[in-house]
Amino acid sequence: MGHVLDDDKPCHECGVVGVYLAEAAVGEPAEAARTAFYGLFALQHRGQESAGIAAVDENGEALVHKAMGLVSEVFSPAVIEGLPGRIAVGHVRYSTTGGSRLLNAQPLVFSYLRGMVALAHNGNLVNYLELRDRLATLGSVFQTSTDTEVIGNLLARYSQDRLEDALIKTMIDVKGGYALVLAARDTLVGVRDPLGIRPLCLGKLEGGYVLASESCALDTIGAEFLRDVAPGEIVVIDSRGVTSLCALQSRQRAHCVFEYIYFARPDSTLDGINVNRARRAMGAQLARETRLQADIVVPVPDSGTSAALGYAAESGIPFEEGLMKNRYVGRTFIQPTQKMRDLGVRLKLNPVAEVVAGRRIILVDDSIVRGTTSRQIVSMLRTAGAREVHLVVASPPTCHSCYYGIDTHLPELIAARLDVEGIRAFIGADSLHYLSVEGMFSALDRGGEGFCVACFDGRYPVPVEGVREGGCG
Ligand code: 5GP
Ligand code: MG
Repeated sequence: MGHVLDDDKPCHECGVVGVYLAEAAVGEPAEAARTAFYGLFALQHRGQESAGIAAVDENGEALVHKAMGLVSEVFSPAVIEGLPGRIAVGHVRYSTTGGSRLLNAQPLVFSYLRGMVALAHNGNLVNYLELRDRLATLGSVFQTSTDTEVIGNLLARYSQDRLEDALIKTMIDVKGGYALVLAARDTLVGVRDPLGIRPLCLGKLEGGYVLASESCALDTIGAEFLRDVAPGEIVVIDSRGVTSLCALQSRQRAHCVFEYIYFARPDSTLDGINVNRARRAMGAQLARETRLQADIVVPVPDSGTSAALGYAAESGIPFEEGLMKNRYVGRTFIQPTQKMRDLGVRLKLNPVAEVVAGRRIILVDDSIVRGTTSRQIVSMLRTAGAREVHLVVASPPTCHSCYYGIDTHLPELIAARLDVEGIRAFIGADSLHYLSVEGMFSALDRGGEGFCVACFDGRYPVPVEGVREGGCG
């Protein structure tokens, strides 16, 4: 069972946070875990299936609490009190793969030669199965089906080395996109993959430091943004402060463009680009590319809102909230009755009839994955009296699988099977328009240099051998 409202979404998406407090800065025993909690709370959009926090106390003892559900459902004040220590890491996860989901929840805590380590990971390793087979041959046992456990095992293999050196060796072994936070006795570590596919940033707290997938988590906990962790960098935070190791250097950059399109929160700035600004620019570019005649511009909230504002501003067509979103969707919705299931997207979105009735609508969304949600939304708008519905999508057709942490798979991608007219017919819109790849690049800073856009053009910055790919329909 997944999060039923998003059941049609293939994904393996996560958010991570790490907190380090200097001894003098600790006010109450569980302050690091509490800070991590608020950080995770701000990263909730990155994963709603499970949440977890691990804290390491002064004896090097790591305690973890993780469960299925939203951050606010998994943690109570009492649970947080039970996680003492001045170093903590946290994780939110959304995955529709894997059998027993709780087993796959993070952080993972393990004990090796050098003590206990808590590990949280966002991303996906393309050579995970190969590494796992190799480790299994050497005698490793696995409790989960996550690639995070493979990382833990590799670290343990290299335990004769200092943690930093073991991490460098591990980074040489693993291929793919990853952002890791790791808590060990007296140390918090952050690691980012050599191409910077997955995001990770560093902030300063009063008397400490924080690592997080997105800068919005830093804002929430009152941390000052220092910088993004560099691609291929290991940041070690301990009593000496922040030490940076350029573990794997590459001149190439491949920041995930889907973070800007859909995944990250608009108030975050990743690798120097503000997400809201990127989305608005994509919406404005889309307006220049389409030049549609209509009465109103309506976003699919929340993911389409920034692009819709950009579209409206550029086209001069008024922005209207024509769909209301229920934002209080939690685990309570995990097993609705069949009758509720049939209501589908209605549990989450409802048209504002006064706004849409009799109107020609430009409906703006960030992306189309399967097309099933878009189809329901268009049909809902028509039932509410919309005269025309033109769907404009602020990204190009998503027609290639992601292997680096977004986990959209080819068979589920409607754009891999159908051409634009076929998708339009399936969705039932009067017209359908995607942003061009060049338009997407022009909307991003640096002219779009240094991004991974494999989900749109099939050019993979980290080779994905042995996996067959199709093209756009
Ligand atoms: P579709 O019409 O493809 O069923 O749904 C489109 C919607 O899916 C868009 O509003 C977009 O924001 C959302 N979306 C895009 N990628 C993902 C993803 O990886 N996970 C989830 N949960 N939603 C996604
Ligand atoms: Mg959406």
